Amino acid sequence: EKITVAVVFGGRSSEHAISCVTAGSVMAAIDPDRYEVLPIGIARDGRWVLARDERLAISDGALPEVSGDGPALALPFDPDAAGLVTIEPHEIPRALGKVDVVLPLLHGPYGEDGTIQGMLELANLRYVGAGVLASAVGMDKAFMKLVWQAQGLPVGPYVIITDREWRLERERKLDEVKQLGWPVFVKPARAGSSMGISKVSRAEDLVPAIEAAREHDPKLIIESGIEGVEVECGVLEGVGDGPNEASLPAEIVMLGEHDFYDFETKYLDGTSRLEIPAGLPGEVVERLRATAVRAFDALGCEGLARVDFFVTPEHDLVLNEINTMPGFTPTSAFPQMWAATGLEYSELVDRLIQTALARPLGLR
Ligand code: ATP
Ligand code: MG
Ligand code: MG
Ligand code: MG
Repeated sequence: EKITVAVVFGGRSSEHAISCVTAGSVMAAIDPDRYEVLPIGIARDGRWVLARDERLAISDGALPEVSGDGPALALPFDPDAAGLVTIEPHEIPRALGKVDVVLPLLHGPYGEDGTIQGMLELANLRYVGAGVLASAVGMDKAFMKLVWQAQGLPVGPYVIITDREWRLERERKLDEVKQLGWPVFVKPARAGSSMGISKVSRAEDLVPAIEAAREHDPKLIIESGIEGVEVECGVLEGVGDGPNEASLPAEIVMLGEHDFYDFETKYLDGTSRLEIPAGLPGEVVERLRATAVRAFDALGCEGLARVDFFVTPEHDLVLNEINTMPGFTPTSAFPQMWAATGLEYSELVDRLIQTALARPLGLR
């Protein structure tokens, strides 16, 4: 009998479209002889729909989207009832039908941040990827850094600005930021795909950058610009009792005139390329892979994650961030790094599903 896999994509975050692209590629790679795929789109307004015929690729620069006019699942909100829950958590499995495993291929808040993971835990459903706590910590760049610092992992200098601080202590926080030196990177604390991020090199550009990041998240992190090459590393949970594993790292090589690895560079104009393995000495690569696994373990991640680093000219490693549901199109860094390490795309998808099926329900 086939294993039923619910692929959940789209969602309420600003990374809706990227999630659709990821899901389109993953669904195309799932072996139809072994798995029955249930495609569940979450529209931008939070409606859950059966989304069988959506366009899920970028075509001519147009980003895909869950249109939301498929047959609505009863989950989880009634759009006409202004956010009232219309279904009890224990009813979710019934609403989904028979599902063996869920692939929450969602990026950003309400997907990558522990919220859907919590719903799946309540429903006693197995799912791919990090659990509630690791997803939440991995989504929030402030807590991510605290956990890493506490475990002696290398992170750069930063300042957090909460919504309350921005409203009540603006001048003090701006002074704190100015102590970081220039440039700084102003970021929403909980976003991805470089959404809302600006590089700021002078004081007069700071407030506009903060306002722009606040469009995405009322909580911000402002970081010292780290000089060096950007390198990413994929981590997979070990098979059975085997150790968690790091892929060969990828170096991001910027080709165009963009100032950093921003949204356009990542997805639209092809002005970056991945060098795999990164052009670093073997000793640095091994240190990087070991640090990636430690960063994964520090948060208690499961399944998969992509760890982003800077490598300074002195070959010091600085952790930038972790992504518990990294971009997963065939041209994304995570699958490419694993392909270079010997696991091709469909094998990778299969391994993630099998890891999730093997994992016990409840506290682990
Ligand atoms: P994604 O989840 O898509 O990887 P994100 O939105 O979580 O991205 P970051 O990875 O934190 O954002 O930052 C996006 C890019 O901005 C980085 O890839 C890098 O090019 C640049 N950047 C971010 N922080 C710094 C920093 N402290 N110093 C130098 N460059 C930075
Ligand atoms: Mg990220
Ligand atoms: Mg991300
Ligand atoms: Mg990143």
